Amino acid sequence: MNYGTSYFGSRIRDHVYRDLKDIKDSGFDYVVHTYSENDWMYYEKSMREIVDDTKSLGLKAVLDPWGVGGVFGGEAFSYMVYNQSENNQLLSTGKLLPVACFNNPNFRKKIEDWIISVAALGGDEILWDEPHWYIASWFIGQEEENGTWSCACNYCKKKFQDLTGNAYPEFYCEELNDFRENSLIDFLDHCIQVTNQKGMDNAICLIPPQAYSAGIQNWEKVASIKNLNRFGTDPYWIAHKQDVEPYVTQTVSVIKKLCKKYNLQEQLWIQAFTIPGGRENEIEDAFKIMQSGNVNDIGFWGYNACTHMSKLRPENPDKVWGIIQKVIQNDVHFIKTLA
Ligand SMILES: [Zn+2]
Repeated sequence: MNYGTSYFGSRIRDHVYRDLKDIKDSGFDYVVHTYSENDWMYYEKSMREIVDDTKSLGLKAVLDPWGVGGVFGGEAFSYMVYNQSENNQLLSTGKLLPVACFNNPNFRKKIEDWIISVAALGGDEILWDEPHWYIASWFIGQEEENGTWSCACNYCKKKFQDLTGNAYPEFYCEELNDFRENSLIDFLDHCIQVTNQKGMDNAICLIPPQAYSAGIQNWEKVASIKNLNRFGTDPYWIAHKQDVEPYVTQTVSVIKKLCKKYNLQEQLWIQAFTIPGGRENEIEDAFKIMQSGNVNDIGFWGYNACTHMSKLRPENPDKVWGIIQKVIQNDVHFIKTLA
């Protein structure tokens, strides 16, 4: 059984070290360090020290492209989307969007540079976290974007024409939907191969369709990408306005099936942020569902129930983190007893 948690919010080495020690003592096996453009630009050496400390404590160091190019999950701004806005997605109306385009070769080069930086930090693995096309509601009201789509940049238009032999459509259609999906999968494939060549493992966390349609719908295509090691998703039942049961149960079943078929390790994330008071026990419910579904890798987002980030802080953070520590310690104890 493997347990992980994400870590962000401090780059002060001795503070982080104490937290990492706490993570280790709580029974976790890996830490997902968010590695945003801000970290990359200003904290590269600090992150190397933090990765060193993580590994010296016997924890696996996983790095996450938090908000990089605005196309991954994460509460982090992208610098490149305004500094190099020529790489950005265009809405079908021609409006410049604050997110980079998967079909833009310059953005691919930027991601390669980011991967090279992660390799230099000594990262063990990269978690490709919630890759998605432009999600209007993350920036402005969803209503304003009805009937529009991305991306209509020149690279996308040319690629579409080259692949299909048809002119870029004026209206959203199935062919365009497939094109978007295949373009994003092709981008991920590229990221995964570069990461593999750099000697690191690859994990992927897909956005569930219950949350957003801008992610990938054809999960099987992603699961079949060569050199992918871990495959999963984050059924954050409260954030996605679903009941923990059956949402988590259905997710476990889908992920287990695909992982078995493609010989992948499954990885599922449990929501440990913005938990309303009185619903803390649902974390244990989600955990038990995953445990009884034989999910061997469970991550909790994030460390200390994200107490330090007010936007993500649960109503009763101590209670949330206490439940997480309890379920892991009970399980670690269970495994030790068996041994
Ligand atoms: Zn484009």
